[in-house]
Amino acid sequence: MWVPVLGAATLATILSQRTVHGQESSEEKSQEVIVSEGMSSTTEETAAQAPAPKKKRGKKKYIIVGAGAAGFSALSEILDKEPEAEVLIISAEEHYPYAKPPLSKELWRAGSNDSTEEGPRFETSEGVTQSLYFEDQETRDKYTNVQWMLNTSVTDIDVRKRLMLLSDGSVYEYQKCLIATGSVPEMLPYVPEDLDHKITYLTNLSDYNKLVNVVNNSDSIAILGGQFLGAELACSLASQKKKKLNVTNVFPEAGIMSDVFPGYLSEYIENKMINDLGVNIKHSSIIDKISSNDNHKIEINLSNGDHVIADHLVVCMGVIPSVEFAEKDLEIDAFNGGIVANAELESRSDVFVAGDVVSYYDMVMKRRRRVQHYDHAVRSGEIAAMNMMGRKIPYNHFPMYWSELHDLHYEGVGITDSTLPTVSVWEDNNNKDYKKGVVYYIEDQRIVGAILIGLPGKGQQLRHMISNALPYHDYSDLKNLVSFKNNDSSE
Ligand SMILES: Cc1cc2nc3c(=O)[nH]c(=O)nc-3n(C[C@H](O)[C@H](O)[C@H](O)COP(=O)(O)OP(=O)(O)OC[C@H]3O[C@@H](n4cnc5c(N)ncnc54)[C@H](O)[C@@H]3O)c2cc1C
Repeated sequence: MWVPVLGAATLATILSQRTVHGQESSEEKSQEVIVSEGMSSTTEETAAQAPAPKKKRGKKKYIIVGAGAAGFSALSEILDKEPEAEVLIISAEEHYPYAKPPLSKELWRAGSNDSTEEGPRFETSEGVTQSLYFEDQETRDKYTNVQWMLNTSVTDIDVRKRLMLLSDGSVYEYQKCLIATGSVPEMLPYVPEDLDHKITYLTNLSDYNKLVNVVNNSDSIAILGGQFLGAELACSLASQKKKKLNVTNVFPEAGIMSDVFPGYLSEYIENKMINDLGVNIKHSSIIDKISSNDNHKIEINLSNGDHVIADHLVVCMGVIPSVEFAEKDLEIDAFNGGIVANAELESRSDVFVAGDVVSYYDMVMKRRRRVQHYDHAVRSGEIAAMNMMGRKIPYNHFPMYWSELHDLHYEGVGITDSTLPTVSVWEDNNNKDYKKGVVYYIEDQRIVGAILIGLPGKGQQLRHMISNALPYHDYSDLKNLVSFKNNDSSE
């Protein structure tokens, strides 16, 4: 698992070594290697003759920090409009950009043996087989103006001087930059050292690869967390065809996905997970102690006196925005977390922010928000890139998400917070069969969000309606809003 690395030296100390009243000292200058394309060859020759360089320095029109969904979307947008632009894209991960949602769902269905040289492949809900990676090497090779730095973190930013310090000690100057550093997992506060290897946090492809290995060599897995990630993973691991696993899902909330679903729906899904998949669910359970038992298994003691024994623990307690390196120069949202940006996704002059890490002003909902979903990452990356290229477009996309739990596919639109009053419309209301229906979330007599269950693709239509401040008076307003017929686009 990756944790942000803060370099021993900060940008301020490096700059103070390098500059005398803002001028580069001649001694320092001779030690620099200018790595950016298009820079003077004389400097490169000087550097080649010099002893081992201490630090490299480059200058780029655009620097993108983070090569996830938002960073890659921004890169694609820039290359679409300015195919010759000099871009540096920096990622703490060892992998080129890929989609994260299949790591907890489709990839387990496909089975880890389906990996090819180009990386894991999976089957979409439309039955199309595709690579986890967003693009192949051949496509990347076409853009010699794009410099990739993988396994590298940005450790400091000096917004006034437009400089970034990287974990390898190099310093880069940007004209415009995008911060798209996503999130890091919420960690357990304390774990005995001898148990470190028995605990996984699922945030990226390296974690997934580790977990595949663990699952292949385990009989029992405990998953901590019963919201999006924990619930998805519990279903995926319990329904694997090639390996029968004993899966226990432990979480402090009263029900599975209870942050999102109304109580009756949470209970319905929980029962399906227990009865159809055999998941051992321990809700309302807080962890008291984690230790190793006499059989070298992990033992989890719960505060209600119960306990769980498993070969391995996967922690899915939620994620926190990855902002550490930016805290010095950029405003952090004390309430929502993340880097504060305006409606054009700009935080300070020429510093843009997108994806999980941005706290932005939502023009539609009239409030500051931070959204940790794929669709938002892609769209915000695209809008941020347009604004980096000089447009002044507000980000007024109304984000949505999708997920699946066992045989239940759902899409979420707008604000889907179970603390809000909800009104549900089901195709089959009498038999309490919740396979097809919509749960609406109401705030101040307006529909602010919805979950669509078993109605793939219909979220797009509802998104449009909700983003236009759809009023709510009573049930009759909602009864026919979404058609339960497949491929009916009449609403
Ligand atoms: C297992 C899993 C399943 C998910 N399933 C769904 C789903 O079903 N539906 C849905 O809508 N969403 C889902 N999500 C959430 C969705 O994937 C994220 O919201 C989305 O990936 C966010 O994109 P991003 O570009 O902001 O961040 P990321 O995709 O996380 O990319 C950020 C990148 O920045 C890098 N980075 C961080 N700090 C630095 C630094 N200082 N220097 C350089 N690089 C840095 C990170 O290593 C990472 O590669 C899932 C997430 C996970 C982990």
